Amino acid sequence: MKINVRDIKENVGDSCSVKLSAALEEEKINGQLVLFTEPLDIRLNIINADQEYALMGDLDVVAQKSCSRCLEDVEFSLSIDFSTEVDKSVVEDDEVDISDYIIEHIRLAMPMQVICDEDCQGLCPSCGIDLNYDECDCMMHEVDPRLAKLEKLLDR
Ligand SMILES: [Zn+2]
Ligand SMILES: [Zn+2]
Repeated sequence: MKINVRDIKENVGDSCSVKLSAALEEEKINGQLVLFTEPLDIRLNIINADQEYALMGDLDVVAQKSCSRCLEDVEFSLSIDFSTEVDKSVVEDDEVDISDYIIEHIRLAMPMQVICDEDCQGLCPSCGIDLNYDECDCMMHEVDPRLAKLEKLLDR
């Protein structure tokens, strides 16, 4: 993710607007694997501010990670505003590389947990069955062993 500043580098105060689309495949963020299902959409304004370039903009992210209850894939989107300054001394070949900066911003904006649905029942902690699709008896037995006994009697 590089922005060419050739057109604005001569005069302090000059600025330009840039739109770019950058593909990211997957990143490990906060210990969780996040898949980027669509290219990032980045819009930014860059100003020649004497010693540095001032960048302001926003980006749209469409990503996918596992539901923290049932582990099913969940797609979600984020809109992230950013503004930063890049010292001119780190600019090479008239190009400002914003990759690390953008990824850092995504990292900060990434929700720790996503859920597929407010009502997601999650997985049974005992047998691992997906309670959105199936039922099991584990919970009941764990909650009250006496009830389990009773159930067995009734089953006969
Ligand atoms: Zn879920
Ligand atoms: Zn179970």
